Amino acid sequence: MSLSGLEMVMERASVGRRAVLAGLAAGALAGCGRAAALGSGGHTAASAPSPSPAMAGTGTAHTSPSAVATATAASTPSVAPGPSRAEVVARYGELRPDYWGFGGPGVVRDLHTTRRVIALTFDACGGPGGSEYDEALIKFLRQRRVPATLFLNSRWIDENPAVFRQLRGEPLFELANHGTRHLPLSVTGRSAYGIGGTRDAGEVYDEVATNQVKLTRLLGTPPRFFRAGTAYSDDVAAQIVTAMNVSLVTFSVNGDGGATFTPEEVHSTVAAAPAGSIVLCHMNHPRGGTAEGIAAAVPPLAASGYRFVRLSDGLS
Ligand SMILES: [Zn+2]
Repeated sequence: MSLSGLEMVMERASVGRRAVLAGLAAGALAGCGRAAALGSGGHTAASAPSPSPAMAGTGTAHTSPSAVATATAASTPSVAPGPSRAEVVARYGELRPDYWGFGGPGVVRDLHTTRRVIALTFDACGGPGGSEYDEALIKFLRQRRVPATLFLNSRWIDENPAVFRQLRGEPLFELANHGTRHLPLSVTGRSAYGIGGTRDAGEVYDEVATNQVKLTRLLGTPPRFFRAGTAYSDDVAAQIVTAMNVSLVTFSVNGDGGATFTPEEVHSTVAAAPAGSIVLCHMNHPRGGTAEGIAAAVPPLAASGYRFVRLSDGLS
């Protein structure tokens, strides 16, 4: 059975109807920049990451200032045993997808619990228009000691090396993979929000592996989690990510509508997040409503007994 993206969105009971409609109207999860997703190519990957779990902030914290740029410029060497690009193409290259959306086989959409825990996740999408840094948001999370998972795109890391090095050293934050070119994950080039997706199994591999290898080098351990640009994937692409020993994560609450929501909309949406939610917001739009909305929503949730967790802690 094939569901359209809109149907998949509307299926999510935990996403308020008003928020969903507002998000769709304004570009929803594509708030990271359409043009950006069509940008740089030249990505080759030689190997998949290892399956060992990653904990943010526990990696190498003393890399030289040039390390980020150095790793960026390098080709993508093998860092651990795993399926090669050729093996992925051989195994999945002929499979046709029959699903497109935020679910699919093996996809993590929530924390699978009714305990009062919420995982706040913030995407840094990179590319033109998407490489800014919401310092006020991160400052609030630090001051309130609110753990969060930060999904970083390769291009955002390149544009924010000093911020990256700082975040990397903070156990409060778990760093995760938000792709190399920020593409919807498709084996047929399917689009989401006007952004053309990866075109085949090999490009799915490249989109995940290139930034995975980069982050593994920079963190010292491979990130456990990957979220595609726009969060869309098909079922074959989802299988590929799983085969690469990475958990494909989407969301259960669209917290900031692709960074298009007002502070009040972010506040009301996040404040209504049910237990076990994975909330998707952005950390690359400092002039959006995310920081103010999160700052308004978190204290009352905490006061009513909700605990905030990084994904590795919420899914362990
Ligand atoms: Zn994004």
